[in-house]
Formats: sequence, C-alpha cells, structure tokens
Amino acid sequence: MEQTASSIGSQKFFLYARKSTDVEDKQARSIPDQIIELREFAKRENIEILEELIEKQSAKIPGRPVFNSMIERIEKDEACGILAWHPDRLARNSIDGGKIIYLVDTGKIKLLKFPQFWFDPTPQGKFMLTIAFGQSKYYVDSLSENTKRGLRQKALRGEFPSWAPVGYLNVIRDRRKTIMVDKKRAPIVKNALEMFATGDYRIMDIGSFLAKHGITTRKTKKGQGGKPIPSDQITYQILTNPFYYGHFRFKGEVYEGIHSPIITKKLWDMVQKVVKRRSKVITKERIHKPFMGLFRCGECGYMITAEMKKGFTYYRCTKKSKVIKCMQLFTREEDVDKQLSDELLTVSLRQDWADQMLQKLEGEEKDVAQSCQVFVQTKKDEIKLINAKLQRLLDSYLDEVIDRDAYLTKKSELLSLKKTLEEQIINFEQTQNAWLEPMKNWIMEATNVANIARGNNLDEKKVLALKIFGSNSTLRDRKVYCVALNQWSALRADPPTRDSVPRERLELSRPFRTTALKAALSTDSSTWAFGNLFYHRFWGVDISLIWVENSICNLENRTRAGLRDFFDGETQEKEIPCQAEH
Ligand SMILES: [Zn+2]
Repeated sequence: MEQTASSIGSQKFFLYARKSTDVEDKQARSIPDQIIELREFAKRENIEILEELIEKQSAKIPGRPVFNSMIERIEKDEACGILAWHPDRLARNSIDGGKIIYLVDTGKIKLLKFPQFWFDPTPQGKFMLTIAFGQSKYYVDSLSENTKRGLRQKALRGEFPSWAPVGYLNVIRDRRKTIMVDKKRAPIVKNALEMFATGDYRIMDIGSFLAKHGITTRKTKKGQGGKPIPSDQITYQILTNPFYYGHFRFKGEVYEGIHSPIITKKLWDMVQKVVKRRSKVITKERIHKPFMGLFRCGECGYMITAEMKKGFTYYRCTKKSKVIKCMQLFTREEDVDKQLSDELLTVSLRQDWADQMLQKLEGEEKDVAQSCQVFVQTKKDEIKLINAKLQRLLDSYLDEVIDRDAYLTKKSELLSLKKTLEEQIINFEQTQNAWLEPMKNWIMEATNVANIARGNNLDEKKVLALKIFGSNSTLRDRKVYCVALNQWSALRADPPTRDSVPRERLELSRPFRTTALKAALSTDSSTWAFGNLFYHRFWGVDISLIWVENSICNLENRTRAGLRDFFDGETQEKEIPCQAEH
C-alpha cells in the first residue's frame, strides 16, 4: 500500500464530488461532507489534488458536463487518477461506467481512489469495479421500478398516489400518508358542482364563484397567482374529476378510492351531461358559413362576411372602407341561397341538349381521326417524294451532271421543305384532338349545374359559383348579382325555356343566342376562343370570319344577317326525339 502511494506521490488526481436531488442519491453524503472526507483521505494517502470538481446532477443518464470535461482532461494526460467517495459517484449508467473502465484499460487512468471502495488496476480490481458500476446502475433501475410498482400498488389499494384535488388535503396519520376531506373547502366545491349541474352557469361563472370563496390559483412567494382558476383546468380538475364521488384517475385508468366522497355519482353524471352539451355548442358555433368569401359588397366593394344570430346565419358587409360610409343591411342565408341557386340555374345545360352535344362530339372525334389520317398520309407521301428527289440529286452530283454549288443549294431547299412537312404532321396530331376532352368535361359539368343548384349542399354551390362567376359576384340591397364568365356565358338562357321539354327540334332560345353570340364576338381572347370553337364545332360556321368582318363593318347588322342564316339552316337539320312523357 505504502509503496503504491509513494510511487504515484508526484502524480495528480481530480477530486470529484457529486450529489443530486434525485431519489437515488438520497442516501449519499452531502457535497461538503464528501469534500471534507476526500481531502482528509488525500492527505492520508499522499495524493496530490489538481482540482476539486463538483457536480449536482444525477448520474442516471450520460451527459453530465463536469464529468465529461474531467474525462476529456484525463484523455489529455492532465491528471492520472480520480478521487471520489464511491464508484456510484462516478457513474450510474452503463456508458459512463464503461468509459471509466476503458480509460483504466488503456492506462489513461492509472489509479482510482475511493474511501468507501478499494480498487487497484489489476484484472481482479477492474472486475470488482465493473461490479460496483453494475450495482449502482441496478440500484437506479430497481428504484424506479419499485417506485412505479409502489404507486400502482397504492392505487390498487384505493389510495390516490398524488396530490389531492381541491376540497381534499394530503395528511400524514399514524405515520401514513392519506387523503382527508378539507372541511372548509369541500362544501364550496360541492356547491359549485351543484350550480354547474343546473346548466344555468358557464364554466367562467364557476371560476369566479370559487375565487369569491378563496379557491384560486396557487399564490407564489413573488405575489403572483391568487387568480380565478382557468376554465380548462376547472373542467379537467373539478367538473370531470371522478375523485369527488369516490373514484380517481391514475395514469389514464380509473380506480376505486378509499377516500370519502363529497358528492353523489348522480350529481356527477348531471355535471357530465352539461359539460358535454357545452363543448358541443362551442364546436357548432365554429362552423359553418358556406358563402363566406364569395361576394363583395355592391356598395363599397369590401368583402361580405357572415354572422350567427339566434340560430340564423346572416351575410353582411365588413364595412372596412374609410371612404364610403356603407349603408348595407344584413341578408339572411336562405335569401342568398335562393338567389344564388337561381343564378346558377341560368347557366345549367339541359340533359337532352347535353346528350346531343356529346353525340356530336363523338362524331367529331371520329371525323378528326379520319381527316387526321388522310392529312398525315398526304404529308408522308410528300416526304417520301422529297427523299427520292434527294437521292436523285446526289446521283446527279456524283455523276458530275451538276456542280457542287447547285447541289448544295438544291439540297438545303429540299431538306427545309422536308422539315416543314414533318413539323406539320406533329402539330396537326397535337392540336386536332386537344379541344375534345375539355369540351366533354365542361358539358358534363354544365349538365350537373341544375342538380347542385336545386340541392341543399351550400358548399358545392359556392365552389361552382366561383367557377362560373369568378370572384366578382356582389351583394347589394339584399340582391345577388353574378356575371357568368367565358364559356358559361354562352349557356345563359332564360330559365323558363330551360325547364320546358323541347318539342320537335332543338331550338335555341333568343337569350341563349344573343349571349352566346356576344361571347363569340367578345374581344376578350379566352371568351372569344371558346365562342368560336363552340359555334364552329356545333353549327359549322367559322366565327373568326364573321368576327373580322364585324370589326370592320356595322356589328349589329352583320351579326344578325350572318348568324340568322346559320342558325336557321342548322336547326332544321337537328331533329331530336320527343321525350316519352310528351
Ligand atoms: Zn359595403
């Protein structure tokens, strides 16, 4: 022993003292005690201390800062050993324990000294140290397991293993912890629960009632607290706490308690009913204002918002304008719905018309395919011809019939032509069918408009209205104003004829013709493109010609003359079968 001491006498040690407030360190000596004893021990053993290191953290998990920096310094050879009260001061987890043993193995730590434990760096000594670290880890593990088991056991015995709720007190009787009724506060809590059960009080009211009788948030030394308990805490800790009728919640489970109840289960059930009803009311109020964001105010231009009043939804101007003093009033949701539905109906497409159109589209698709084939074939033949010419050109050049310059000029000419033809084929294939699919989808959509307009799903109506009218719809003097966009404007017909069963032939009502015509002649390019397509495909007239002429000549006359002809001509050909009930 003495020999060891003198041989390491000149070498330096870290003194490491640690104690945490955690339960596993309850038995350990205090840090000042550890230091005093370690200093005496160092003197006795002739150990030179480089620095005293103090840590106040648990060693249950790795990541202690003082310990880690000590290990780093030992790795840099600043010291050759550690002096500590017991191995469990150094480590209570497998990583830190393993690190110490590894440093002993690699010779970085030459010695470890503990007043409570004898260690030397022999195989046997290292084995004993491993066991000591293992024990201190086991101690932590079993402690937490025991604590959990203890609490569970307690719960099963009916003893609430935590802080009692307001109205009860944690007390120690005959050296046992138990929970007693708080004679002063229990009647107040009971009173509050009875009040709430009537359904006439809000949770907030219960909070102020309790506060009035001295039941508030906990007061702190700094003078904070002492305020009414917040609503969510009242709900969880008082209104829905089964503790008051004799059960208790612990870790998500309900146990039967041995404490005395202060209310009956019947009263508690009544309270639960009110709590449930209250939470429902809140969620109901949060929904549901289907037409929000659809309209602007027709007077000031600001958005229309919604508001619930006595069970009805009203729409009104947000009146945010600082320039215009908006005088608009509230409009009932039912009124808005009715008017909007009527507006939607004006752009619905009758099923029999839709069927006709779809049929026509199918024919069109076939025609396109056919004409496409013919067109492509012609172009391909032309390309073949060019290839042959190129071959002959090359032959002539090789036979020295033509000179190099003439050859090159002619060749580039032919190649350019060939390229143009190839591109024409690609373009033609791409554009010929492009309009068919969107057109079909739109026809289906337009047919479904009436179903949505007559239905009760206001959300569907809003989505559709945004599609058809865009974001320019307004509400003014309780009237809805909408303008159909693009292709939809072509469908606007007067509602009466829309619903009547067609007689012998497909007849377009006058408003339909006029609006559709307007769309076709519109200078807005997207509207015009659609209108053009619409007429061209269905009634065989190339609007672009009419449009160009009209922009030069008198628009009114030209339109009438030009379109009367094609409408009259076309409608005569369009026989449609009479409906069965007619
Ligand atoms: Zn307004």
